Parts: sequence; C-alpha cells; structure tokens
Amino acid sequence: MEQDIFCGIAAGAIPANKLYEDKKVVVFTDINPQAPVHVVIIPRKHFTSLNDLEEKDEGLLGHMLLVAARIAREHGVAFSGYRLVINTGPQGGQAVPHLHMHLLGGRALAGELG
Ligand code: AMP
Repeated sequence: MEQDIFCGIAAGAIPANKLYEDKKVVVFTDINPQAPVHVVIIPRKHFTSLNDLEEKDEGLLGHMLLVAARIAREHGVAFSGYRLVINTGPQGGQAVPHLHMHLLGGRALAGELG
C-alpha cells in the first residue's frame, strides 16, 4: 500500500481540519487556501490519480461529487457558486500523489476556464 500525506490524514496520523468523514471519503480544509472556501475531498483508499480508477470505482466518484455538493451547501456557496477541480499529473498541476478533488468558492473564480 502506498503512503502519502493524504493517506496519513485519512488514517488520522497527520492532523488536518476535518470537516466530514465517512467510510469512503475524508474532507478537510486546504492548508494553503486559494479562496475563502477551499476544501479537499479525498477517498480513503489510495489512488495515485484519477488515472488509477476503474469502472468499479464509479460509485466512489459519484459519492465524492455528492459530498462536495453537500459541503458547498453547508459552507453557503451552493448558490453563489463554486468550482470542483481534480488536478491530474504534472501538467495538470497535481502535487500530492493521492486522488483528490478541490472545492473552491466564496469569491469570483477566474482562470483557464473562467
Ligand atoms: P494539488 O496541487 O492538486 O496536488 O493540490 C494539493 C493540495 O493539497 C494543495 O492545495 C495543498 O495546499 C494541499 N495540502 C497539502 N498538504 C496539506 C495538508 N497537510 N493539509 C491540508 N491541505 C494540504
């Protein structure tokens, strides 16, 4: 089993400001927030990136999206708007080698697709 900083957070070995957790995912605030709401959603199971998922994992991805929508509601950005980002690989800007989804909101977001 590979180990990385997000595996450590999921296991409780590395501290994080956890907002939500269940059997499949852990949600915590990003240590270097890029927006007033910047949350990271990770699967407990280690996947290095989105590239590692298979068809049997589609339920996990759906769960991550539904958890993200719930967190957005709880943080008051569901209607003002937010962005979900999965950086994948070096040119995608992925720094941590554990699949994760960013939830960004609380300000107008610009950028490549903005
Ligand atoms: P990425 O560039 O998509 O791999 O994003 C990794 C994100 O993880 C960055 O936004 C970091 O600020 C965040 N991060 C790294 N270490 C921690 C940590 N210990 N607790 C919370 N967020 C972290």
